[in-house]
Amino acid sequence: MALSYGVIQAFLTTGSFSRVYSQTELIDQVRAEKARTEDVLLKLQRAHQALEVSAATDSLTGCTNRREFEARAMAEIARVQRSAAALSFVIIDLDHFKQINDRHGHRAGDEALKAFAGLIKKILRPSDLAGRIGGEEFALILPDTSLAAAARVAERLRLLTESEVVSVADTHVRFTASFGVAQYGIDGDSFESVLEAADSRMYRAKQAGRNQVIAE
Ligand code: GH3
Ligand code: MG
Ligand code: MG
Repeated sequence: MALSYGVIQAFLTTGSFSRVYSQTELIDQVRAEKARTEDVLLKLQRAHQALEVSAATDSLTGCTNRREFEARAMAEIARVQRSAAALSFVIIDLDHFKQINDRHGHRAGDEALKAFAGLIKKILRPSDLAGRIGGEEFALILPDTSLAAAARVAERLRLLTESEVVSVADTHVRFTASFGVAQYGIDGDSFESVLEAADSRMYRAKQAGRNQVIAE
């Protein structure tokens, strides 16, 4: 009833029925176009998000890459400067990794790197972050974590690592890692200095025989 009234009113105004019907069609077309544009926009947003994630992620291990790791570490440091919460870092280097490649092949080495990333993911909390910062070098950002607690996290990861067996074709690969732990504010008051402290402890762990955690 209201529609017929509208049609008659439109006819009286425009003197044409065809104009009224083409306007209805136009509205339908606009609606369809709007729905299509929204759909394309959604797909574009998803593609953009996927691109951002892949630009920040190491494709072999799924860990954050070095650049993203640095950005996230800087953001965490800025956060603790405001809140005075604890923040610790762990630098990890897999031991004798060249030998693993030499003995078992590069593909087995890659599988060991992936398996190690899997172990990291097992023990980290959602607020922690793992980065692959070099070939066989990883680092952890542990927010709200003291040096002693971070050393315990590193020790748990060390134990898991030494018991891991990676099977590739018919070879079984075992490996270990060396860890250096440092706390922001105590061991360094900038990103560079705290990472440097963790790094030099990791090197001391290497010199002391590898497969160990050093946090002082
Ligand atoms: P160390 O205990 O002193 O750290 O000995 P290392 O052999 O681990 O140290 P080095 O730095 O001499 O060798 C690192 C090795 O890691 C050499 C390199 O081929 C290997 N590597 C680095 N990135 C990758 C990778 O993506 N895949 C594989 N398979 N190997 C890698
Ligand atoms: Mg190394
Ligand atoms: Mg190494």
